[in-house]
Amino acid sequence: MTTTPKRDGPTRHIFITGGVVSSLGKGIAAASLGRLLITMGYRVRIQKLDPYLNVDPGTMNPFQHGEVYVTDDGAETDLDLGHYERFLGVPCTRNSTVTSGKIYQSVIQKERAGKYNGGTVQVVPHVTDEIKSHIRSLAGPDVDVVISEVGGTVGDIEGLPFMEAVRQMRHEVGRDYVLFIHLVYIPFIKAAGEIKTKPAQHSVQKLREIGIVPDFLMCRAEKPLSKGVKEKLALFCNVDQDKVIDLPDVPTTIYEVPQVLERQDVHTLVCKRLGLAVRECDMKAWDLMVQHIRRPKDTVTIAMVGKYIDHQDAYKSVTESVDHAAYSHLLKANIVRIESESLEKDPDWQEKLRGVDGILVPGGFGKRGFEGKLRAIRYARETGLPYLGLCLGMQAASIEFARNVLGWADANSTEMNEKTAYPIIVVMESQKDVVAAGNLGGTMRLGSYPCTLTKKTSRTGKLYGGADVVMERHRHRYEFNNAHRAAFEAAGMQFTGVYIPDPAKPEASLVEIIELKGHPFFIATQAHPEFKSSPVEPHPLFRGFLGAAYKHHTKTGSDTEVGLTAVGNEG
Ligand code: GLN
Repeated sequence: MTTTPKRDGPTRHIFITGGVVSSLGKGIAAASLGRLLITMGYRVRIQKLDPYLNVDPGTMNPFQHGEVYVTDDGAETDLDLGHYERFLGVPCTRNSTVTSGKIYQSVIQKERAGKYNGGTVQVVPHVTDEIKSHIRSLAGPDVDVVISEVGGTVGDIEGLPFMEAVRQMRHEVGRDYVLFIHLVYIPFIKAAGEIKTKPAQHSVQKLREIGIVPDFLMCRAEKPLSKGVKEKLALFCNVDQDKVIDLPDVPTTIYEVPQVLERQDVHTLVCKRLGLAVRECDMKAWDLMVQHIRRPKDTVTIAMVGKYIDHQDAYKSVTESVDHAAYSHLLKANIVRIESESLEKDPDWQEKLRGVDGILVPGGFGKRGFEGKLRAIRYARETGLPYLGLCLGMQAASIEFARNVLGWADANSTEMNEKTAYPIIVVMESQKDVVAAGNLGGTMRLGSYPCTLTKKTSRTGKLYGGADVVMERHRHRYEFNNAHRAAFEAAGMQFTGVYIPDPAKPEASLVEIIELKGHPFFIATQAHPEFKSSPVEPHPLFRGFLGAAYKHHTKTGSDTEVGLTAVGNEG
């Protein structure tokens, strides 16, 4: 452990805003800067300020908003928090996510409780104060830098209270301790053969109208900008020339972005601007990881069978985790996305799965496409293809086993068929009232719970390195019906992980992990291990799955992974 020298002054704040268009990768830029500061030994916290009115994305359709990410403390959040955790290696909390909905809910609750002493409650100062208190909640003596990403694009009506709040932060915390980064898009007009800086200039003007003068301009473009273009941007956007930063498309992986920033000395410039000592930024371990990604020795094909396949980001953490595990074996994962409903309709459905090296069924909700998932799982079980099931993927694997091994043709989850004669998956006792009341936001079994590993000699036990108990994150309402455990065990299904809420009643445990005996790799978990994988520390279940997939691919290959040197993370 290196001791961190005492810091002068308060926690520093970095705000990242976006201009011109959305989807520029602000989250990745924020996380990459965080990575560099952590590598320099600074204690960093990071958060997302989202101007939309949902209290959290938990009730949003993944088609709308992509994956719902879950933190250890059970917040349902924006998927950018996944990037933050994967890049920083520091767990986020519910304070890492702030939406307008959450802010207004809290302001209105206070108003109803008479906390404003009869005053008129207004956007300024009450809403902006509430936003600032959420930003400040991450600061403190043990935090050197808080990075806050402001969602949306400058000029959005709903973003204004957030912009005003962060403007006030510079005033309140002190100019020297607060820094603004504006990330803009620099288009290349093919017909004219020219790079255009005008949208960026207008975006900065818009920001200045609100009273925010950016210190750094990060420029998203296909290619690095010429010196001339940078000079022009510096002059018209009022930013120092060395603080006009290139963020071109990266050739291989988003994990190259910290390197892109490092090469331009962004970490040094940021520290100097914020009065923080410029420390060494040792990126060796990170660089090695990127090198592994760039030079895979082989490719394995993984079929991901789900419902929200068409949305690029609906299973973001899952695809990332598959990639991380592939890197650790020096492999590249070719992830084939299969819409589960298509496996129900197509008479030649097996063709879609032929030639893949592993099948993964991620989490999900509802009936549509469920039977297709069961088909894919049966195919994996019967042909000895590695299978990894996550949450609904575990529930589906249990139902498939009940139907086709135990012969209970009608077996199902009561989520899909309330009247099934064999309710293998049932609503959790604690969820019954919640469902009846129709109170759907933030009420599932959410966040981190201990899972006791019951069989050290099983594949699960070995993958987790012989641990007795592991912590995994959850997001579900239904669970395995314990009434059927004995029948499953008798037919070869092992319950290799369970949650024991009350040690006095071990029989009242909740099934967390199942593993099929005698199969090359058939493991499914009620948890979401994809929320705990990073490129430098791939999750053991994914690592095992990719190892087995590679073995399947080569038929004779080894499934041992290369050891990646863990990158030091600040807790
Ligand atoms: N729909 C299932 C449940 O609520 C699975 C949830 C999930 O996969 N996240 O239990």
